[in-house]
Amino acid sequence: MSEPESDDLCDFTPPENPDGSVVEFRHAWRTETVRTLARYIRAKEAFDRMAVLADALEEAGCDHPVILNHCRLCPIHCPDCWVIGFILPPDPLDELPEPAGPVRQAVDRLTDRVIQRQWLMIGIGVILLLVFGVVAIILWMFPDL
Ligand SMILES: [Zn+2]
Repeated sequence: MSEPESDDLCDFTPPENPDGSVVEFRHAWRTETVRTLARYIRAKEAFDRMAVLADALEEAGCDHPVILNHCRLCPIHCPDCWVIGFILPPDPLDELPEPAGPVRQAVDRLTDRVIQRQWLMIGIGVILLLVFGVVAIILWMFPDL
């Protein structure tokens, strides 16, 4: 078994173009299909679908040989495959941390307020039920009233 050529190795950082320039990824190639596939591949480590991703990229107008060849020819992709990294750039919403500090306090305060309001509504409901229940019982016991 021969060692894969260095071009075939998968890495976090994209390789250079044959002319030494940086591989650039156009936003127009990030179609819904491309992003969905990339998310699936990353989540399930389903790198056998990289060839499908190449087709999806081509449909999106991508004709970059370095990108397409990597998807189709790289024998083993690393979890941080640079093509996936290009398609799914760090989304601030994806990695939004749990609220901390003052934000956390504000969220907790608002949550408490909502819970208090719900209990208030339940309390009012229970009181109304009791009042109507008592009235109904009185009317039942003294129909002449
Ligand atoms: Zn890769």
